[in-house]
Amino acid sequence: MAARALDGTATAAVIRQELVPRVAACVDRHGASPGLGVVLAGHDPASEIYVRHKLKAAAEIGIRAELTRVSADGHVDDVLAVVAQLNQRDDIHGILVQSPLPPGMGDDAETRVIDAIDPAKDVDGFTPSNVGLLVQNRKGLVACTPAGVMELLSRSAIDVKGMRAVVIGRSDIVGKPMALLLLHRHATVTICHSRTRDLAAVAREADLLVAAIGRPAFVTPAFVRPGATVIDVGINSVTDPGLVRSWFPADSPRAAAFEKRGALTVGDVHPAVADVAGALTPVPGGVGPLTIAMLLSNTVRAAETRLSR
Ligand code: NAD
Repeated sequence: MAARALDGTATAAVIRQELVPRVAACVDRHGASPGLGVVLAGHDPASEIYVRHKLKAAAEIGIRAELTRVSADGHVDDVLAVVAQLNQRDDIHGILVQSPLPPGMGDDAETRVIDAIDPAKDVDGFTPSNVGLLVQNRKGLVACTPAGVMELLSRSAIDVKGMRAVVIGRSDIVGKPMALLLLHRHATVTICHSRTRDLAAVAREADLLVAAIGRPAFVTPAFVRPGATVIDVGINSVTDPGLVRSWFPADSPRAAAFEKRGALTVGDVHPAVADVAGALTPVPGGVGPLTIAMLLSNTVRAAETRLSR
């Protein structure tokens, strides 16, 4: 591919290593390692994998991570009760409730659960008070995926100051905080979404294009100004052989991976964008590993803050 690949796996490994002495310092100075409470309701297969990765990554750097399961047919009050306990515990510094909650818990379950988390332990950065701090560019816990994108950009020596940035996607967990972080670093930011007119034309204005849509290969070369930096946040599992064949040559490693597993993880950005962009995050191996690294970073920060009080 012509574009420079922005290596999220390597960057995430560096961030995780930088946390090791900070975890050790918590133990040396305060006799306590950072504690992360993870709550998983139900058995969503993707959530099971995400949670397993998060617990493993935490344990590898010395964070005490513990999992509390809630039954798939449980009530949202069961989740709220677990969160209330974790809020009270002195040895738990970060709380993460894996999304999505089972649909049976109700449409407002996620909001109720987020609202219940102590903002000081909100290592996902989803509570209204942490979002408010982000809006005002004040210190708080910031959503992991967009925070990870900013780390990847700065550690790849890409300075967004003065850049025209376009973020496709306006979710609370990626699009909106992403746009705010870019704005605070002095980019000129446009947020696009499903109702945006002439989306490709708007995207083509971007020096920096962030795709957080959830649609495989949606961003084609027609969306990309030659030389632009393209950040692919999307994680999509594709099982249609015709689609995979249309994106990857039959003798490519990606096609071989699909043949082996019958499914392939792809981003929101079409592979042909690599011929147009100046820099591009791969999927997998781009933004995904940074999300976990920033979760660990937020947990260590939350622990440092609480322990030094
Ligand atoms: P979401 O469904 O909450 O939001 C998607 C956004 O895309 C919406 O704001 C919507 O307006 C926009 N959109 C949908 N269709 C569109 C269209 N046709 N044109 C323009 N905009 C459109 O999703 P999300 O939680 O923000 O996640 C987005 C993607 O990022 C998903 O693939 C998700 O799996 C992935 N994700 C990855 C990580 C990571 O660690 N890499 C973390 C979170 C989410």
